[in-house]
Amino acid sequence: MREESAEASAIHRAEIEQQRTFWAERFRDVGWQTERFVQGMRDSPFFYSQEIVQVRIDSWSQGRVVLAGDAAHCASPYSGMGISGGLVGAYVLAGEINGSPSDLPAALANYERVLRPFVDQIQGEVNPRILRVGMPLTRHAIAAFQNLTALACFLHIPDLVTRMSKEDRGGDWRLPAYVNAV
Ligand SMILES: Cc1cc2nc3c(=O)[nH]c(=O)nc-3n(C[C@H](O)[C@H](O)[C@H](O)COP(=O)(O)OP(=O)(O)OC[C@H]3O[C@@H](n4cnc5c(N)ncnc54)[C@H](O)[C@@H]3O)c2cc1C
Repeated sequence: MREESAEASAIHRAEIEQQRTFWAERFRDVGWQTERFVQGMRDSPFFYSQEIVQVRIDSWSQGRVVLAGDAAHCASPYSGMGISGGLVGAYVLAGEINGSPSDLPAALANYERVLRPFVDQIQGEVNPRILRVGMPLTRHAIAAFQNLTALACFLHIPDLVTRMSKEDRGGDWRLPAYVNAV
């Protein structure tokens, strides 16, 4: 759902029943099979609802406390690379602490200096304008989007894009080689 209201942002922290009601209200009377889906959501024993966000923080550490993974730099499910960011970040953090065992402030500053360019790259790959195109708001816009998507598939454009995309994500950033790394 494309909505940036304060209510939509806060609902994921509400009681589950409130969350279900929120979604049911938003999708009431929109047609097609929606009633069936809403009923399925109400009946399901499993429920997960979350806001799509990125985590951007000026500093990843304070004193002896340091953030890693999503807590430091969640990229968002739209970009992927969250797992890679978490694993690479943990590797860099361990490497830097291992390299300066008696100087934690220096190690944490280096962790941030080394990892930031990689994180900036993966977070920067999310383009909100393109995401908005994929989430049209009116019936006409939805119909136009579906027709364009059908045409693109007919012309095999997704296959072409896949073939032309880079396999490596993260730009020119290279994983540092730490001495004594296992
Ligand atoms: C819908 C969705 C799709 C995604 N798709 C992809 C994908 O295709 N590719 C990809 O690479 N990434 C994807 N991600 C992102 C990926 O899941 C995360 O980037 C990754 O799991 C982050 O790992 P983490 O260890 O930093 O955090 P988490 O996996 O969130 O781990 C944090 C842990 O801390 C626990 N915790 C929280 N608070 C406390 C507390 N107070 N005390 C103790 N424990 C606590 C939580 O229960 C959790 O187990 C997706 C994420 C979502 C939500």
